[in-house]
Amino acid sequence: MCGIVGYIGYEQAAPFLIDGLEKLQYRGYDSAGVCVNDGEKLVVKKENGKLTVLKNMTDNGNNIAGTVGIGHTRWATHGKPSNENAHPHLSRSCSFAVVHNGIIENYMELKQELSAKGITFRSMTDTEVVVQLMENCYNGDMIDTVIRVMKMLKGSYALGIMFKDNPDEIIAVRKGSPLIIGIGEKENYLASDVPAILEKTRKIYRLDNDEIAVIRRDGVTVYDTNKNVRNKPVEIIEWNIDAAKKDGYEHFMMKEMMEQPKAVHDTIAERIKDGRVILDEIHLTPEQIRKFEKIHVIACGSAYHVGVVAKYVLENVLRKPVEADIASEFKYRDPIIDEKTLTIVISQSGETADTKEAMKEAQKRGSYAVAIVNVVGSAIASEADDVIYTLAGPEIAVATTKAYSAQLAVIYLLAIYFGDILGKISETDYQSYVSELQALPEKIQSILQTKEEIKNIASKLFACKDTFFIGRNIDYALSLEGSLKLKEISYIHSEAYAAGELKHGTISLIENRTLVIALATYGRLFEKIVSNIKEVQTRGAYVLGIGCEDHPELKEIAQSAILIPKTCDMMLPSLAVVPMQLFAYYVALFKGCEIDTPRNLAKSVTVE
Ligand code: GLU
Repeated sequence: MCGIVGYIGYEQAAPFLIDGLEKLQYRGYDSAGVCVNDGEKLVVKKENGKLTVLKNMTDNGNNIAGTVGIGHTRWATHGKPSNENAHPHLSRSCSFAVVHNGIIENYMELKQELSAKGITFRSMTDTEVVVQLMENCYNGDMIDTVIRVMKMLKGSYALGIMFKDNPDEIIAVRKGSPLIIGIGEKENYLASDVPAILEKTRKIYRLDNDEIAVIRRDGVTVYDTNKNVRNKPVEIIEWNIDAAKKDGYEHFMMKEMMEQPKAVHDTIAERIKDGRVILDEIHLTPEQIRKFEKIHVIACGSAYHVGVVAKYVLENVLRKPVEADIASEFKYRDPIIDEKTLTIVISQSGETADTKEAMKEAQKRGSYAVAIVNVVGSAIASEADDVIYTLAGPEIAVATTKAYSAQLAVIYLLAIYFGDILGKISETDYQSYVSELQALPEKIQSILQTKEEIKNIASKLFACKDTFFIGRNIDYALSLEGSLKLKEISYIHSEAYAAGELKHGTISLIENRTLVIALATYGRLFEKIVSNIKEVQTRGAYVLGIGCEDHPELKEIAQSAILIPKTCDMMLPSLAVVPMQLFAYYVALFKGCEIDTPRNLAKSVTVE
């Protein structure tokens, strides 16, 4: 969500800023802009729409002079996407410029106070109050002023700030929204995420909440809000620049789907030793684990769907109640949770504001929080009691694929690990779970190899208007993700329904040629889902079935069918999700949609 970049050095700033914004496009945005100090004034170029508009307008940044600047791709929260609302924003006398990611929750109040002092606003954004406050509060000392302004702000923010009269510094501030500083040779950088700076440097500082960084050409100093200098550890980014490139694929999404065998393998490999699941990162003692009376899995979007799978898997294996909770609902409903509840939160970016807030709420009520996160050092990873990293590598496409698969793998690891400690798994089951888990990457690979078959099916169905995904038990949990994937990237209306529930109302929407995608991998309820398939076919539906190889009759029952290899019940979603991802991808491709950056969506959602 939103991209921030900054550059200070001896080269022309704007080409780097534009290039950096391009690399952050995956985060989702609706307008883009840059501000460069040309030695006399702050020059701002910003435009509504895709980055290409700004690129053409500035000749890829080449026609803006100056060696210090900030840039931004905006994901509008306050004020519609427009030129005026695009960032950077300038203060009244154009001496300060600000880019912002997040939401200033008390902006109305601050705006009123500033308006009463005669300050007029040029935009509808919450952000503009920050830049006007900077000018209004400036007392000759930038750090003091920034600290004063921070104390007035409520909400979440990552800010890049420039001052016309000081072309030798960029100020960066973070509370809630992510921000990193790249450390170069005689030049330094600012960014929301690593891909923006990876071609320049691998050395970064990750700003923590309430830290203020002063970025100069020759160095960076980080302060706390008492103006004490903080000793920040330098983090070296290990992943390869190629990880953030498309590698010959047309889209990041396809590349990332193809990387799923590796993502799952890497996530489990180091955690299975001599046939045993070893989770060194879990610091809970067996005694603590035995004391938990229930488990809450809290997340948003696809990660929440992993939570729903987790409910079926963990309840089944551990025989303890498990709730899957939507993070944005959790905190504000006075949840019944205490030290006898284990909280598991799931977030690819580790910066998801809703999930972070829900986790803090759970911790405040005494619950122990284990986070499943992909981005090392992210906010949720730092604030959780324990963190299990998915080793999926950077995920760029907005619609998640490999991170989802890696998160599922962690759920299976936890099921086996906790199940063993609680004495709920026989030795035979233990060994069979472990070997099925180890076999997943190869089976995922075999499904990926059938992508032409799925493309062919998609070529016949991409014109559909309304779609239903149905399934029972673990297939229902998975249908939620299949449906979301299709909606996200192809903009086709789709609903996921528990197959047995459809007849209690929603079946009235089925008409001639309505597409129903029926998940029939859960063998124990195969006959039941077949009945549900018949019910919708009788009313005219076209059914695409997804089942396991041991039920080849699905090919006769459904109008089209995809068969996947067999695995143990709990791991079926890891295999069945792959054809659904591929189906969504090809439908979107045939429809000509922007697959990696679907409209209105952001990759890491850093606002509540
Ligand atoms: N709330 C700000 C706005 O609407 C910042 C949005 C963003 O994070 O891009 O302009």
